Amino acid sequence: MNGAPFETVLLVEDENSLAQTLKIALARLKIPEIQHSTTISGAEELLKLHAFDLIILDRNLPDGDGLTLCESLRAESFTGAILCLTAKGEIEDRVEGLESGADDYLPKPFHWEELAARIRALSRRKESLATRAKEKASKKSPLWTMEPDRLRIFGPRGWVELTPLEFKLATHLIQANGAIVSREELLKEVWGFRFLPKTRTTDYFLGRLRKVFELDPDHPKHFVTVRGAGYRFIEVPASDLKD
Ligand code: CA
Repeated sequence: MNGAPFETVLLVEDENSLAQTLKIALARLKIPEIQHSTTISGAEELLKLHAFDLIILDRNLPDGDGLTLCESLRAESFTGAILCLTAKGEIEDRVEGLESGADDYLPKPFHWEELAARIRALSRRKESLATRAKEKASKKSPLWTMEPDRLRIFGPRGWVELTPLEFKLATHLIQANGAIVSREELLKEVWGFRFLPKTRTTDYFLGRLRKVFELDPDHPKHFVTVRGAGYRFIEVPASDLKD
C-alpha cells in the first residue's frame, strides 16, 4: 500500500487555477488516481465509468449547484466521502451542504494544508467506523483479525498488508459471515458504482486477495467463487473441520 488516504478522487471544480492547485495538493497526498470535471454533467459521466472513494465538489458550477449532485449520489447510496468546496462560507450554507449528504464542507479561500487535514480526517473517520465493526468480529479468532488503521488482515499466511480498496473488499466479504455476496453488491458497496458496468474488476481483485491469503491461490478455500451468484468467504473450510 502507498499510504494514501484515498485511492481514487473525483474533483469537480470549474475554476481552472484552483483545480490545478487542488491537483497538486492531491498529488502531495499521494492519491494515485485523480479525475477532474468542470461540470455536473461531466462528473456524472465520469461516475458511470469509475469508482471514486472521495469526491471534492464545488458548489457554483456552470450547469448548477454541486449540492444537487451530492443529493443524487446519496440517494443512490454512494458510499464514498464527499467534501464540498464553496465561496459561500455562511453557516446556513454549510448546514445545507452537510444536510444534502456532504461529509465535510470547506469554505474558499483555503490553505492547501487545511484541505489536506480535512481529507486525512475524512479518511480516518471512515477507517474508525470500520474498526469498531471489525473489533467485534475479530475477537472470535486471531485468524482473520482486521486492523483497519494499518490496512492489514491476519490470514492463513500471516499478516497481509492491503491497499484501501483491497481491504474494503476483503472486509466486506469477511463480514458477510459466509453469505454469498454478488458482483453487483460489491461494485456498489466497495467501488461505489452507481451504474453497473460490465466488468471483470471483481474477479481481478478476488484474484489478488487469493494470491495473498490462500495457501493455494489456484484452489481457494476461503475466498471462493459461487458460479452465477458471486463470491463467498469461508472462515474455516469443511476440510479443516476435523474432530
Ligand atoms: Ca465554481
